[in-house]
Amino acid sequence: MNMKLAVLDRIYRIYDDFSGGLDMACKKYCAQCCTPNVTMTTLEACRIVNHMISNGRSDLLENVQARRAEKRFKPQTTTNRLADLCRKGDDPPEEAVNYLNGSCPLLTDNLCPIYPVRPFGCRCFVSKHDCRKEGYSEVDPFVITVNTLFMQFVEHIDATGFSGNFADVLLLLASKERRNNYQMNTLKHPGPGFIPNLQITVLMIPPEHRIKIKPLLDALMGIKAP
Ligand code: SF4
Ligand code: SF4
Repeated sequence: MNMKLAVLDRIYRIYDDFSGGLDMACKKYCAQCCTPNVTMTTLEACRIVNHMISNGRSDLLENVQARRAEKRFKPQTTTNRLADLCRKGDDPPEEAVNYLNGSCPLLTDNLCPIYPVRPFGCRCFVSKHDCRKEGYSEVDPFVITVNTLFMQFVEHIDATGFSGNFADVLLLLASKERRNNYQMNTLKHPGPGFIPNLQITVLMIPPEHRIKIKPLLDALMGIKAP
């Protein structure tokens, strides 16, 4: 588990180095993108819960619990499952297209209280212009390809785990018993709203981005387990 968490941190660092060089409007206190619709993997949730516990902020889980009944986006598939369906020529399941309004249950005074360990779904939400003024984000097509590539790796390293809505996965691993089961690879399918992760079977990189993305792909492939 520690090895997987170290690899996850390495993936985050490589992405942060990449996104740090982008021309973005994103800045502190800009939080329009902090909605209840973020998704993440069980490994990412484990990282967040460990961080909350070691920083004495387990109370944050109560905020998530208090808003458990609220509507939020619940994915029907994962990035690697989608890639695999495309590879086989099968149709993907229909996802909800009307995203729900509202804020992430952790957002406090327009700041993220778990910023250093926020999941990749938050990390990769970037925009060239201020979404608050325009009402939508603007993302370069190459950045979308990079984001998809990183999502594939984040899922790949947690292939024995699950993906789902941020709040659902966080509350799943808020339980010490389920965290232990997850770490021992004995966590059973938690039920509706959770999708088993899948290893990468094919990368979703369009031909026009294959050369440009190679340094990032090499960096991901070059991650060594500590
Ligand atoms: S993605 Fe949009 S709302 Fe989020 S920080 Fe960037 S500019 Fe602000
Ligand atoms: S976890 Fe943090 S960065 Fe992600 S949506 Fe919530 S407040 Fe925003």
